[in-house]
Amino acid sequence: MRIHRETWVLVIVLMGLLLFNQLLRAALVPSLSQPNTVKVSKSVYALIGDMDVPTPENQGFISNTTFIITDDSVVVVDPGGSKQIGEMVIAEIRKVTDKPISHVINTHHHADHWMANDAFTALSPRPQIVGHAYMRTKAKEIGEQWLGIISRLTNKANIGTKVVLPDTEIVGGRQWKMGNLTLQFYHPAHAHTKGDIAIFIPEEKVLVAGDIHFYKRTPGFQDASPLGNLAALKELKKLNPKHVIPGHGPVTDINGLQYMLTYIEKLESEVSRLFKDGLEDFEMNDKIKLGDYRNMSGFSSRFGINVNRMYAEIEARDFD
Ligand SMILES: [Zn+2]
Repeated sequence: MRIHRETWVLVIVLMGLLLFNQLLRAALVPSLSQPNTVKVSKSVYALIGDMDVPTPENQGFISNTTFIITDDSVVVVDPGGSKQIGEMVIAEIRKVTDKPISHVINTHHHADHWMANDAFTALSPRPQIVGHAYMRTKAKEIGEQWLGIISRLTNKANIGTKVVLPDTEIVGGRQWKMGNLTLQFYHPAHAHTKGDIAIFIPEEKVLVAGDIHFYKRTPGFQDASPLGNLAALKELKKLNPKHVIPGHGPVTDINGLQYMLTYIEKLESEVSRLFKDGLEDFEMNDKIKLGDYRNMSGFSSRFGINVNRMYAEIEARDFD
């Protein structure tokens, strides 16, 4: 009898631990029901997406959304990857302000950043949706296909989402004066993509970097120029931001910018070294010395492409 009772106690304890583990995981994964909204500065807020790829648990909420409250209105940067995420973003904004949402800015064409445009078309007055011309062209090209991909990965968490493209084009060097705040737009020729836009707000020294900057997460370089991305990070660093909102990863500061900058510099010097030794890109992965950068989120799935893209650029450069 005693053995029986102890077995039951053990089973109950184990079940309790399992449940606790699940609850803990639910609390740690930013989801639509529990968004992680951070006040970055007086007028700027960021919603931090999950570090993983789209899954049914995170419902595709994997990139960061920023909202900027100006004197008269709210500007949203990267509303997210589905109509459902966009609706969650609107609800989060409404917890802080009832000012109208005047603009939605898309930093580049990757679907996790802009598919939520759809949620904002229902607002009255309808906000202007803004992106670089290249972003618009590519978004049009890949939009429908990505609706299907995100649907499969998230078990249809984006159901009903429609492709809504930017209606207004933006170029680098522009500056919007919006009441008490200035939004300065940067467009590097080719960094994370060929259509990147980053925004700096000098009054509060906030940089909204889009995917030019990944923090503690391995960058997705499939459309990138790693060397162009490095040059762009050096330019953005000159702005001397106090607060940096990366496209993916937690809110940080200028040291967080340096973190990715150093990663690309290490990648460049290591790939150059092994290139001179006559190795092919696929032979380099295990030989590249990176220290702690191997612990970045998503390393095993993205590092091969990082090496491949860097190798291609070094090869082209050395042929010149
Ligand atoms: Zn991206």
